[in-house]
Amino acid sequence: MSIAIYPGSFDPVTLGHLDIIKRAALQFDRVIVCVMVNAEKSGGLFTPAERVDMIRRAVASIPNVEVDKSPALLAEYARERGATCVVKGLRAMSDFEKEFQMAMINRKLNPGLETVFLSARQNYTYLSSSIVKELASYQVPMEDFIPREIIPEVEEKLRRLKAH
Ligand code: ADP
Repeated sequence: MSIAIYPGSFDPVTLGHLDIIKRAALQFDRVIVCVMVNAEKSGGLFTPAERVDMIRRAVASIPNVEVDKSPALLAEYARERGATCVVKGLRAMSDFEKEFQMAMINRKLNPGLETVFLSARQNYTYLSSSIVKELASYQVPMEDFIPREIIPEVEEKLRRLKAH
């Protein structure tokens, strides 16, 4: 069985992420979307548990997708889960350098682990979790940016943040 991991911070999950998840789910028997709990990148708007919950709601209709979170090194996590592939989305050349370096490090740490890059769909190349947070804080309608299942939660979180 082919198992792929799609790792990221997903703070929050966007339609760009969801597009990569759907396309990966067509290529692999199983896709594990993993919120990587990175000690360095602590903070973030949503807790790892909230991010997992939002992704779960967005992918509920895709049977071969599972959502998890992990504080482990990606190469180790993939080994534990029996995954042979890491999926990454590439929006622009600016994503490439860092992602290529990560792919090489992961292969060094876990030689059985391949990295596959999917190119972002054109209408999502500008989309990132940071842009979503920025726009939502100005009450810009979110329909074109994040899955509809999570819109109320994201809007509510930013409203509360602004009120403080
Ligand atoms: P962000 O850069 O939005 O904070 P993450 O760290 O959660 O996102 O990204 C996880 C993965 O998803 C990375 O491989 C990233 O390149 C990819 N990705 C992020 N946004 C998009 C998008 N709009 N389209 C395609 N892939 C994306």
